[in-house]
Formats: sequence, C-alpha cells, structure tokens
Amino acid sequence: MSGPSSRAGAPAVPRIVTTSWDDGHPLDERVAELLLRHGMAATMYVPARCDRPVCDRAALRRLLAAGCELGGHTLTHARLKHLPDAEALREIADGKSWLENECGQEVSSFAYTWGEAPLRVRRLVRQAGFARARTIRCLRTDAGADPFRIPVTVQLYPHGRKVHLSHALKEGNWCGLGSWLRFGLPGSLLVMLERAVERVERDGGVVHLWGHGWELGEAGLWPLFEQAVALLARRPGWSYLTNAQADLAMRACALPQGPQVAPEGSQG
Ligand SMILES: [Zn+2]
Repeated sequence: MSGPSSRAGAPAVPRIVTTSWDDGHPLDERVAELLLRHGMAATMYVPARCDRPVCDRAALRRLLAAGCELGGHTLTHARLKHLPDAEALREIADGKSWLENECGQEVSSFAYTWGEAPLRVRRLVRQAGFARARTIRCLRTDAGADPFRIPVTVQLYPHGRKVHLSHALKEGNWCGLGSWLRFGLPGSLLVMLERAVERVERDGGVVHLWGHGWELGEAGLWPLFEQAVALLARRPGWSYLTNAQADLAMRACALPQGPQVAPEGSQG
C-alpha cells in the first residue's frame, strides 16, 4: 500500500476503527455497552431467526437508539450458496424487510451468512437493495475494491496460526495473507491488532474487528474483548465508525480502495 499522500480535494487520510457482530444475539447489547463506553461504534448483523436466540424488537431499538447500526444477515441464517437464486434472494430481501420493519428505518449493510460470498450471492445482495456487504476476509486494513466484498481485519476469537492460514488459502485471500506474513505470523489476536493499528497509523485505513456476541459468552472471551477494546479505543486522530460510516469514509478518501492482488471473482 502506498504512503498517506492525499489527492487534491480529497479528504485527509482516515484512520478508522469499526466493529461488527453477527447473528443478533441478546449478548450484543453487552457488546455495544462496552464499545460505546469506550467511544467505539458497532454494526450488528441480525437475522430474523437462527439456531440461537436473537434480540427482540425492543432490544434492537435500544441498540439503534444507542448509536449502533443494524445490518441484514438473511431471514433464517441460511447458507445462501446452497440455495437456488430465487430462494436465496428471498432470504436476503425478506431479511432486509423484516429488519427494517423491526427497527423502523432503512438497512443498507449486509453480512454474508457463514462468510460465504461467491459472485452469484454478491449479485443477489446488490439486487436486494443493499449498498454494501461485509465478508470475513481477514487480515486487511483497506476498504476492499468492491463494496460488496468488504474485508475485515481480525475476528474476536483466539484462532491459531494454522486456522488463519487455512482460512486465507480457502478464501484466496492472497493480499490478506501477504500482509499477515509481513507481520511475522503472529499467533496472538492482540499482537495482530497491534500490527494492524501500526499499519493504519502509518498508511491510513481501517481496523475492522468482528465477532459474535454469543461466542464471547460461550468461549469466555470477555477479558480478551476488553483488552482488544483498550488497545483500539481513544486513539488521537482516529474515527470510531459503524460499518456503513466507515465504508462511506473510505470510499470518499484518497487511499487506494484495496490491493488488487486477490482474484476478485474468486470464492470468498
Ligand atoms: Zn452469522
């Protein structure tokens, strides 16, 4: 990635932290409370139903009122790549209508269920009226060239090196893998976040932490989450934005939208 030079007329190089939380579990309220207390922002991707409890309308409206963004995550948390087009589109579009009805406002961001975002599914998400969609392509601090293929930096989960390597290979995430190798193959989430912060401090970009509220509970990750928040919060000159705000800010700025190393038409 090039240095933080700026194009004439373009806004200054942004340094952004955004976070996203999938599946709309009731623990998302606790996630949001911790983030907002530290001046951070969150986008919650909420299906109408899945195999775990989902926030009710009152909880969703409290999240919105607190400043969180709510995004689509299908109607039933379906694996879209296994469905015919019409059925997949119905899952995506009906999930959007349901959530807009619950929260009383338009929903513009989507997160792919199971992280599965083949080209066919990305097209359906656009067709359903979303403006952007988040993948789980990790180890990135750019916006992604395609707003329907927004990458993330790291999952709030203590994955080991082997898991990162196999995910990156499976997803064809070559630029993510390349940057990770340059980081020296850190096996610790906090070290990876530190390296990502250093990179964004130097070059601009976005640190995108994502996870599942339910997983924080089930895997005992609250202490790790608090450490991650302490590392990311209140950095001078940085902006703490929802996914939609971060996407808009990154696309309005002078930074390259993403290394064009990864084959954009591939699975991911
Ligand atoms: Zn999910």
